[in-house]
Amino acid sequence: MNTPTDTYVRIPGESATLFAAALGEDTEGTVVLPGDADWDTARTPWQLGVDQRPVAVVLARSPDDVARTVRAAGEVGLRVAPQSTGHNANPLGPLDDTVLLRTAGLGGVEIDVERRAARVGAGVVWGEVSDAAAEVGLAALAGSARDVGVVGYSLGGGVSWLARSHGLATNQILAVEIVTADGRLRRVDSDHDPDLFWAVRGGGGSFGVVTALELRLFPIREVVAGTLFWPLERAAEVLHTWRRWTATVPDEVTSIGRLLRFPPVPDIPEPLRGRSLVAVELASLLDAAATNDLLTQLRALGPEMDTVGPTPVEQLAQLHMDPPGPVPVTGDGLQLDALPDSALDAYLDVVGPGTDMPLLTTELRHLGGALVRGRIEGGAVSGLDGQFLVYSGGITPDAGSAAAAHVALDAIASALAPWSAGALYGNFSESPRPAAALYAADTLERLRQVKAAHDPHDRIRANHPIPPAGS
Ligand SMILES: Cc1cc2nc3c(=O)[nH]c(=O)nc-3n(C[C@H](O)[C@H](O)[C@H](O)COP(=O)(O)OP(=O)(O)OC[C@H]3O[C@@H](n4cnc5c(N)ncnc54)[C@H](O)[C@@H]3O)c2cc1C
Repeated sequence: MNTPTDTYVRIPGESATLFAAALGEDTEGTVVLPGDADWDTARTPWQLGVDQRPVAVVLARSPDDVARTVRAAGEVGLRVAPQSTGHNANPLGPLDDTVLLRTAGLGGVEIDVERRAARVGAGVVWGEVSDAAAEVGLAALAGSARDVGVVGYSLGGGVSWLARSHGLATNQILAVEIVTADGRLRRVDSDHDPDLFWAVRGGGGSFGVVTALELRLFPIREVVAGTLFWPLERAAEVLHTWRRWTATVPDEVTSIGRLLRFPPVPDIPEPLRGRSLVAVELASLLDAAATNDLLTQLRALGPEMDTVGPTPVEQLAQLHMDPPGPVPVTGDGLQLDALPDSALDAYLDVVGPGTDMPLLTTELRHLGGALVRGRIEGGAVSGLDGQFLVYSGGITPDAGSAAAAHVALDAIASALAPWSAGALYGNFSESPRPAAALYAADTLERLRQVKAAHDPHDRIRANHPIPPAGS
């Protein structure tokens, strides 16, 4: 990763000038080159800890801009990295042979109520889709934060608050509009370019630049959701009870057990500011009475705060208390194929009370249900193999705090290594990983064949790249 302290001369290199010339004057969008007044704004991702230094940035406004960018970059031997928000900018690595193609200008959410589907431009974030769908009584498989990009999240998998009942978001993609490395815009679905359609659903952004997605929506207006909080000192009894409880709940219930260490800063609301807590967050599609029955065991532990109750489905975006805007984050995840008492004890030895844990959140998401691979017909990733998904992260404004966060992430990964499931989950992998760490061997081989068929010279760069077969 580049660090902001490196010397960085902001003048357009020869490649940038050649690229701008190849692109010509006819784009609706904006080409931003090093030295331009808006260079720093254009190149900065949501993940503020990443200092992106591409050859040029294109702020696309139309699918035609995307196609022109891909063609012009190809003509001058550059690569193209599509990016909507930059939530997962960390693994991209140095961009010195790459045009950064920002898609935020490709807006638009169209809801087809009859078909229960949404067509969503590549710049759209989840809050926009959830709000538009809620107006007509529908819900999408949105991420926990309103400002996560629909495309990056959906191509990488997509674990929502409805994950155990409805599976990964990627398997509810109905069609993809995509510019491939040859600069051609195509619409792919199960009947058109089915191999490409299979690959993008879980294989990520290696296969082309998506300009729009069509997604399935669900007739859900309200859920029962909220959080139970206890002081951090009670982490062991709460998380052990929660873990046993997860084995008993139906697929309609998706939950997270987490430890939170809130800094004493004004952005954090008063009851939580400066506190260290253990929490169980949940969303349930059962009615309030049935959900309350299920919660008896957890409520018997006497939570200090209890916010569980009927909730409009679009308000699930507040449940996880993600940062409302760009921040420097250091985080990472892994999957566990089991969480026996010994695993939870090993985890708590590293993250629990009495440890010097610098991370703001250390959390365990309950998987299973409709997330079990193959339960829902899908693409390259039709489910997750693990029983639990681990994510840990902190706000790291400087090199010292980032280094401390990395030490903590390594300690968590080592403690849980005996229970680690084979593949990592791409969306929660915030470090560069070889493709073999993310996909089973047969899936990866097929992904590489599709990549070779559509992008043999590896022009399109993803956060988690799939190398073309034969390379
Ligand atoms: C605060 C926060 C909350 C999160 N919550 C969840 C959650 O609840 N569930 C979950 O599963 N994940 C979650 N994530 C992880 C998130 O899904 C990934 O970071 C995802 O990659 C973000 O997509 P993006 O488009 O916003 O990010 P970006 O960094 O813009 O994109 C990530 C990658 O997606 C690909 N991509 C993006 N746009 C395009 C495009 N138009 N065409 C082709 N490829 C493209 C590229 O390969 C790009 O490198 C969360 C992350 C954060 C930081």
